[in-house]
Amino acid sequence: MKNSEIEELRSTVIPNGHASGTASYVASAKGAVITDVEGNELIDFAGGIAVMNVGHSHPRVVEAICTQAQQFTHTCFMVSPYDIAVRLADRLCAVTPGDYPKKAFFINSGAEAVENAVKIARYYTRRQGIVVFDGAYHGRTYLTMAMTAKVKPYKWGFGPFAPEIYRAPFGDFEAFKDAFITGIDPANTAAVVVEPVQGEGGFTAPPDDFYPQVARFCRDNGILFIADEIQSGMGRTGKMFAMEHWGVEPDLMTVAKSLAAGMPLSVVIGKAEIMDSVHPGGLGGTYGANPLACAAAHAVLDIFEQENLLEKSAKLGDLLTEKFNQWRDEFEIVGEVRGKGAMIGLTLVKKDGSPAVEETGKLVALCREKGLLLLSCGIYGNVIRVLVPLVIADDLLEKGLEIMEQGLGQLTY
Ligand SMILES: *Cc1c(COP(=O)(O)O)cnc(C)c1O
Repeated sequence: MKNSEIEELRSTVIPNGHASGTASYVASAKGAVITDVEGNELIDFAGGIAVMNVGHSHPRVVEAICTQAQQFTHTCFMVSPYDIAVRLADRLCAVTPGDYPKKAFFINSGAEAVENAVKIARYYTRRQGIVVFDGAYHGRTYLTMAMTAKVKPYKWGFGPFAPEIYRAPFGDFEAFKDAFITGIDPANTAAVVVEPVQGEGGFTAPPDDFYPQVARFCRDNGILFIADEIQSGMGRTGKMFAMEHWGVEPDLMTVAKSLAAGMPLSVVIGKAEIMDSVHPGGLGGTYGANPLACAAAHAVLDIFEQENLLEKSAKLGDLLTEKFNQWRDEFEIVGEVRGKGAMIGLTLVKKDGSPAVEETGKLVALCREKGLLLLSCGIYGNVIRVLVPLVIADDLLEKGLEIMEQGLGQLTY
């Protein structure tokens, strides 16, 4: 089928709510290139929204999934458990921040991990309040939608929302503390949930003293500190987990996206004492710890160990930062360079400094025409973010950046 034929069929069977950014339907993807059904190639700077840090169809991942598929594909971990999940938990507990006993619980999606982290935090603390931040994105299920801080498109028309969610300003510790005067009593707060580097909210990282101060405040008040590393984790920022940049060890962490290179897998990892507080049978799900997804995650960890992916990520981050800073000096429309390491973006602004929203859309469209897949983000939608596979070859990266640069040059107010 051609793109136009699939598009036509789609319009009759897929609801409008589940929209796509392009009408180019994928036939295959390899490394950092996506090929559509008509043979058009796109350089992928989106990585399936931060999922493909190890690149599309990495041979190790493909082999791990195929090998596991020949053994078994599902028994349900709660019915007939298997060692591949136990060994994965062991490896993840070892690579996450914090030199103390930890435990890991597997589910399927990012939102499901956040939901479960909140369940565990409420159970352990016997408190209900959850504090989240301006600019936050934690998912689209009913609880996580309440935690997410953008109305359109995520929350619009979908209320009422889950109770006991309170919002604090991001990045300013004094203002953060005020939320516990104006919004909620610290003694009723189960957890503060934060994205180390905000993803959908605009690739924002706070000042360096913010997280250590928030973590201390949480500790002093018996509040759990939960890091949602779903987008910032798995090597994206040059460290395995972004919180390592600030030396903060979260009580609980959520990880998903690049964890299993596209297989649906997420995990809540945290201090054993907290994770173990829930009664047997209190946590679970039919597909949690799916064996194919666990096999893929093992392969991802192998790739990090054997292909120096953290080093590559740090180098890529430096290169992108230098390039983007150059553009900021060169192009009036480029406002700020934001993020951490290879989780980097730039804002597009008008002459008066206000968000250049239309122009951002135009840049994404221009780049797509020239064969580069880009994503925008931010509460105003004027941030271009780069989530390119960390394994991208130098020449391909250069080609992608050239397309971006030409696109920026073509933008006019
Ligand atoms: C994507 C994302 C989620 C939600 O993950 P899903 O798998 O889409 O449910 C939650 N938190 C953060 C920080 C994310 O980037």
